[in-house]
Amino acid sequence: MPTIVLPDDARTIIDRLHDAGYECYAVGGCVRDCLLGMTPHDWDFATSALPDEIERVFSDLVTVDVGKRYGTIAVLLNGHSYEVTTYRVDGDYTDARHPDEVRFSPCLRDDLSRRDFTVNAMAYDPIGGLYDAFDGERDLRYRVIRCVGDPTHRFGEDALRVLRALRFSSVLGFSIEPATERAIFSCCDRLSDIAPERLMRELLRLLCGDNVSAVLRRYRSVIAVFIPELSGTFDFAQNTPHHNRDVYKHIVASIKNIEPDPVLRTTMLFHDIGKPMSLVVDRRGISHFKGHPMLSAAMSEEILRRLCCSNNFIDDVCTLIRYHDERLTPDPPMLKRYLKTLGERRMRMLLSVQRADILAQSMYLRQEKLSTLSQCEQEVERILSSGECYRLSMLAVNGRDILHLGVSAGVRIGELLDEVLDKVIDGELLNDRDALLSYLRQRI
Ligand code: ATP
Ligand code: MG
Repeated sequence: MPTIVLPDDARTIIDRLHDAGYECYAVGGCVRDCLLGMTPHDWDFATSALPDEIERVFSDLVTVDVGKRYGTIAVLLNGHSYEVTTYRVDGDYTDARHPDEVRFSPCLRDDLSRRDFTVNAMAYDPIGGLYDAFDGERDLRYRVIRCVGDPTHRFGEDALRVLRALRFSSVLGFSIEPATERAIFSCCDRLSDIAPERLMRELLRLLCGDNVSAVLRRYRSVIAVFIPELSGTFDFAQNTPHHNRDVYKHIVASIKNIEPDPVLRTTMLFHDIGKPMSLVVDRRGISHFKGHPMLSAAMSEEILRRLCCSNNFIDDVCTLIRYHDERLTPDPPMLKRYLKTLGERRMRMLLSVQRADILAQSMYLRQEKLSTLSQCEQEVERILSSGECYRLSMLAVNGRDILHLGVSAGVRIGELLDEVLDKVIDGELLNDRDALLSYLRQRI
C-alpha cells in the first residue's frame, strides 16, 4: 500500500473534519501527482460533511463560497486556498456540459465514480491510506488514461473530457487505453458544444506537455473539431528544399523544439496555418508561400478571438507569427530596428521561434541558418547589455526638447523624434544631446 506524506495544511484540514465526525480525503490530481513522485500544485478534498457543516468546522478561518451549490467551500489556511467539496453525484447531463442537478451523497465511492479518469479518481487519507475503487494505481503504473466507467457514456455527459484525456496524455506522457481512445474518436464532434474558454484552457495545458507532438499527431482530427482551420495543413505537401515534411508534420515537429510556454507553443501551432492558402508553384515545380506569415497571423487572430483569449495573449502570438519568417542578419542597425518594434521580451521570443522553426525544417542550409541565428542572438544580447539606443525612451532628447525648439505640440514632434532615432540606430548621428539638438535645430 503506497503512503503519501501529506503537507501540514492538508493534514490539518483532514484532521479537523475527522475530529468533527466526518470523513475527509485528499482527492484527484494531488493524489495522482504524489503517487507519481511529483509535487502537486494544489490540494483538493472530498468530505461527507455538507457545505454548511464544512463552514462550521472551519468557522475560525476564512472560508469562501466558491460554489456552495455544487458543494465546494474554499478554506484559507496559511495563505493558501484549499477546496473542500461535499461528496456528490452529478445528475443527468442533457447538454453535454452541465449536470442538470447536483446531488450530495454520503458515500465516497459515488464521488469518485463521477470523476473522469481512473488516475484522477483516487482518494487518500492518513488513516485508511489509498482508496482506489477503479484501479487508478494500476493505470498509473502502466501509464494509461482510462475513463471511469463506460467511455462513450462519460464523454457523452461532458465532451470536454475528450480534450482532458489528450491533455493528460500530453502532460503525463501516458497512452490512452483502446476503448477510451475509440470513444474519443467517436465522440469528439461534441467538443463543438463546449464553451470556448474551457477548450482553450485545456488546449494550452496540452500544448505545454512534454508529449505534445505525439498527441497532436495521433489526435489531429480531435483538435480540428474546434480549430477546423488546422485541417488545411494536414498532409499538405511542401515542394521546397527547405522542408522534408508536410505543413502539419512540420508544425508538430516545431512545437517540441520550443520551451513549454503558452504563447510560444501557440505560436508554433499556428505559425504556418496560412501556408495552404498562400501556395504558389513556380515553373520548376517549387512551392512558395509568399505572405504566409501575414495570413497565418490573421487566421490565428480569428481563431484565438473565437477561443476567448486575452488581447495581450493574441497580440503576442500574432506578432510573433507575423515576424516568424523574417530573414534576420547580425547587422546591428537591423536588429535594433526589430528591437524597437518588438521590444526586448518579444525579440527574445522571436529568436526562440525561429530556432524551433529551423530545427523542424530539412537539413538544407541548416548549419548556415543556425549559425546566422546564433550570431543574431549574440548581437541582440550585446546591444541590450551595451545600453546602445534602440527606442525613443533611450534617446538623449525628448519631445519637450523639440517643443523648446519651437515646434508646436502634435504629430510633428513624434515624426522628428522617430527620424532622429532612425539616424541614431543607423549610426548617422551620435546619441549625444548636443549633437541631436544641433541636428534638430537645422532640421526645423
Ligand atoms: P491539475 O490540477 O494538475 O490540472 P487535476 O486532475 O487536479 O489536475 P482539475 O481540472 O483540477 O485536474 O480537476 C480536479 C479533479 O476533478 C480531477 O482530478 C478529476 O477527478 C475531477 N474532474 C475535473 N474535471 C472533470 C470533468 N470534466 N469530468 C469529470 N471529472 C472531472
Ligand atoms: Mg487540480
